Amino acid sequence: MSQNAIIGQTHIKQLLAHMVETERVPHALLFTGEEGRGQIPMALALAEALLCEHPVNGQACGTCPGCHLNSKFIHPDLHFVFPVVKRKNKSDAPLSDQYLALWREALTESRYLGAERWRETLNTENQQPGIFTKEAENITGKISLKASLGGYKVVIVWQAELMNEETANKLLKLLEEPPERTVFILISAQPERLLTTIVSRTQEIAFPPIPTDTLAVALEQKHGLSPEMAHDLAHRSNGNYIKACRELQGAADNAQDFDMFVLFMRLCYARKIKDLSEWTDRMAERGRERQKAFLDYCQRMLRENFIYNFRRPELNYLNPREADFATRFAPFINERNVIPLMREFDSARRDIVQNTNARMVFFDLSIKTIVLLIR
Ligand SMILES: [Zn+2]
Repeated sequence: MSQNAIIGQTHIKQLLAHMVETERVPHALLFTGEEGRGQIPMALALAEALLCEHPVNGQACGTCPGCHLNSKFIHPDLHFVFPVVKRKNKSDAPLSDQYLALWREALTESRYLGAERWRETLNTENQQPGIFTKEAENITGKISLKASLGGYKVVIVWQAELMNEETANKLLKLLEEPPERTVFILISAQPERLLTTIVSRTQEIAFPPIPTDTLAVALEQKHGLSPEMAHDLAHRSNGNYIKACRELQGAADNAQDFDMFVLFMRLCYARKIKDLSEWTDRMAERGRERQKAFLDYCQRMLRENFIYNFRRPELNYLNPREADFATRFAPFINERNVIPLMREFDSARRDIVQNTNARMVFFDLSIKTIVLLIR
């Protein structure tokens, strides 16, 4: 993949392509700026160009064996360092290599990978992801070998500010005496947290926010938004494509929760046990996080529908579809059942958190809702 898939940042694209073409790529680059502006895709595109056998105008050809390996993030001369956590039930020191399969999967899903998405992928629970001591030794070992395919070696360090001090000092040694034909690309949204000695060894390239119009066009093309919606979302995202994508995902999840909530209430009211059992199966297929989010959503809807009965719109927070449903549904949520219903949804949520069988939890909730809904 060439630079074409990267949104905006024309100036940086030209600069890097020129460096590759003239073979004047600095041995260490530092990409700075808030995430979501294209730092990872740009680092990958540069690595691809450096590792390509027949680059065209400073960009990867996309067809040679090297490019083929890079399209799957498995080129033997491209190394990745990124924050990780200690593996569950393992005594070994945490290392990026242990998470390479997840990393490749995440990049395949989107090269615009965000820190929050990565933490979810790692399933960090209470651990703080970091770049730990073993990492520097591991990289030193890898780049001291001759490049497998005889060309450059490239090391991409993502969220470089999360290196611990020891790792940072070891990396500094590498940057001070760079092995031949090795390029380090450090990516950091908080470069002020890096050792100044590291920063001074790198050439910084600051990524500006993606201009609203450019981001809007990308949102139209990649996500099929109308021009107005795309412009609105681009404006709210402050030039951060990752932020825009998260908001789109949130809206999609919300719409899905609404549909499931409406269906649930209809089936409970009509006492359709067989259909409720199918509904339960659908809920059980979701991941725990989405199940919890759904139960939170239901509690919010119960509260909003109860309040709706007071006819004080300034107290209601409903989108148009939700408000339309409330005109018919609100009378069913009243002072007799609102508190017991909230309690049941709350207790279902606790059960989900404690890993109780989701099918049982949701079916049990259906029965209780049937009883409470007609009070
Ligand atoms: Zn190529």
